[in-house]
This record gives sequence, structure tokens and C-alpha cells, in this order.
Amino acid sequence: MLFKIPRLYDSHTHFLATGEFASGLALGSLQKPEDLAHIPLQKSYYRGDWIVGFGWDETKWPTPPHKKILDQIFPNNPVFLARMDGHRCWVNSQALKLLGFTSDTGILIEKEHLQAWDRLPEFTKEQQRGHILSACRVFNKAGFTHVRDMSCTESLWNLLVEMSEAQELTLAIEENVTSHDLNDFDKMLQLCVQAKKGETPYLRMKGIKIFYDGSLGSETAYLSKPYNGKAEGPRGMTLWDLSHVEEVIRRTWAEGLDFSVHTIGDEAAHHIVQLARKISAQGAVGRLNLEHAQVLRPETIQMMKPLHVRCHLQPCHWLSDRVWLENKLGELYKYAFPWEALRAAQIPTSFGCDSPIEPPSFWRNKIALDESVKAKIKKFTGDITVTHAHPDSSFVGNSHTVIEDGVVKEIVFDGRPLSLE
Ligand SMILES: [Zn+2]
Repeated sequence: MLFKIPRLYDSHTHFLATGEFASGLALGSLQKPEDLAHIPLQKSYYRGDWIVGFGWDETKWPTPPHKKILDQIFPNNPVFLARMDGHRCWVNSQALKLLGFTSDTGILIEKEHLQAWDRLPEFTKEQQRGHILSACRVFNKAGFTHVRDMSCTESLWNLLVEMSEAQELTLAIEENVTSHDLNDFDKMLQLCVQAKKGETPYLRMKGIKIFYDGSLGSETAYLSKPYNGKAEGPRGMTLWDLSHVEEVIRRTWAEGLDFSVHTIGDEAAHHIVQLARKISAQGAVGRLNLEHAQVLRPETIQMMKPLHVRCHLQPCHWLSDRVWLENKLGELYKYAFPWEALRAAQIPTSFGCDSPIEPPSFWRNKIALDESVKAKIKKFTGDITVTHAHPDSSFVGNSHTVIEDGVVKEIVFDGRPLSLE
């Protein structure tokens, strides 16, 4: 089957992380922790004198990871290795000392893991340029000419502007800045407002993104019913006070910026849509993006109709979640992956892949749409070449991609054919 897609768009990515992971120390194929000793170290694996890697999975190993192993192999450097799920890391004694943490095993979990990650030395500018170029390559190879990044920083934006002006970018990139709470919001909003003045033909600053709930995998996505079909029990969690979200939406819209929100559970999405309705009714107007929107009740979809809303779905997540999805959601399963319900209600929807969590791939999304029908997910009767195209034909419009049976045959960006090597 052959598809010609205009402006092939991955509508939810973590751009820099995609480049970092592509050029960094990947541990996914390690057979046992001791095999680390045989990996030749490259410059791109370092942050300052720290050795940084990702992607290990101890379920494939005969023995668990331990700080002693790292102390033996890397006696002279602090080492930080993130697990494949991004929820824990494996560090050595030197790293623990520098981070100010104690741990008998060298395994840091959740909050300590994220704090450790934040405290790693910055990449050099040259390394960051390398990550940007390698992210462009990763997306181009998969056929994408347009991406929407959810994780912009000031240094990334400045570098992108520089590289865009030097004609080094082979992607049209939209940027969003994540705010974690009201404490950092002023700074992030300022960054968006400033950045917007420096847009280039390949680069747009879109606005603010927040995380309102968690994930289905860790049962932290916020549902209207308890997990696993139980009559009573945990329904997940929200990460923001709604009154704070209200302030963020009002001030983001007042600057003419998009407001994007990570909502995976049906109740999380319902809260946000209800709130956006209330704010709109009082005369404030702006764009709302619902990220993932993996479970939506029909009444929530109906309430979206008067809003300027777009839902960003990643069908490929269904491929990874399908083994447990129905059990976890119980009665709510009938509302999962609602691409067809959104289409029927004419709510604008875009598809993406959430790279580097899933590989960027148009074809995997197509397969997910086809196969999910067998798992009682309603068949998508829309046109995937439309939902996977950037909606604005004036944004680097002279771009298209040809994909045949999963193979990228041609990619044209801004009128220039790109090499598929
Ligand atoms: Zn994401």
C-alpha cells in the first residue's frame, strides 16, 4: 500500500531527548550488567566528566544492577544510567557522593531519580547541536518533515534559531515549554513570549504545556472509576490544583499562546474541558491542546465542540499498552483510544508517536489503527494522511513524503528532496 502524505507531522515529540538517545550510550542490548565493561566510550556519552546512559532493563539480566559493578568498571568517573522506563537510575558511589544521596544498591527511584537527572552537568553547545542534528535525522529517516516538540528550553530555542538561520534544519519545528507549577510559570511564559518574536520560517513557538495527570501504566492517569474494574479503590491522581490551572490558561491565552495539557485519564480530560468552557464563557479565547487523550467519555467530547481544541493521539501507544489495557480500564475500556469518536464529533485530531518513548513511525500508527479493531477499539474511518499531516499548509507547505508498505520512498522538505541514507 502506498501513501503520499503532505507535511508528515509527528504532533507530540520530545525532540532533544530523541537526539540525545540516538547519539547517547544505549543499554537496551546489555545481556548482563558486567557487559558494560566492553562498551567503547564515545565523547557523546559524557556530560562534563559524568558518563550518562539509558535504556537498561534488569528483567533481561541474570543478576540485578549494583553500584559495586559500576565502581569497578568506572573508578574515575561519576556514572548515571537511566532505566528504560525513565523511573529509576543506576549510579556509582562517586555519583552518589556528588548528588548527596545515600543508597546501598546505587538504584535511585522516582523523585530521587528525577532530582539526580536535573543535577547532571549541562551538555556543551557542540553536543546540543549534535543532538539537534541527530534528532532531525531520526525524524527525516522515518519520513517526518514536521514535528511538535513538548520539551523546549531556552538554550534549545536559541540554538534552533541559530541553526534555522544557518539553513541547518531539515524539519519544521513547533515548540512548547513545560511548566511544572505556578513557581516556574512566570519564567516559562516569559520564555515563550520572547521566543515568539524570534520565530523563523522553520520554527514556531506555540506555548505552555503542563502535566495534569500521570500514566495508565503506573495507574496514575486520573480516571472516573477505580482501576482494574474494582468497585472501590485508587482512580489515579491529578498533579495540579485546578485554580492554578485556571490562572495558567488565562495568562497563556492572554499572550496569544496555546495551552497544552497532558491528560490521559477520562476524568482528567473532563476537568480540563470543563474549565476551558468556563473560562471561554467569560470571554477569554485561546487554543487548547489535549495531549494523549487516551480515554474520553462521550459527554466530554460533546463539550469540546465550541472550544478551539485539538486532540493529540498516539495510536502506537495502543501497541505497547494492549496487553493490560482492558483489565486496567474495566468499564472505561469502551472509551479508550477514541480516534473514531473524535472524528465523528468533528474535533480536530492529530497523530504522533511520543518519541523517544515510542519510535517515530507513521507505519506503526497505521498498524495500530488496523489491529486495534480486533481488540474492540472502534475502527478509524478518517483519513490517516490528513490526521498525520501538519494542519497548516502555509507552514513549510512545500513538503511531502511517500511511504510504501512501511518503507519511506521519498521525502521532500521545503521543495528539496532529502537523502534517505
Ligand atoms: Zn510526551
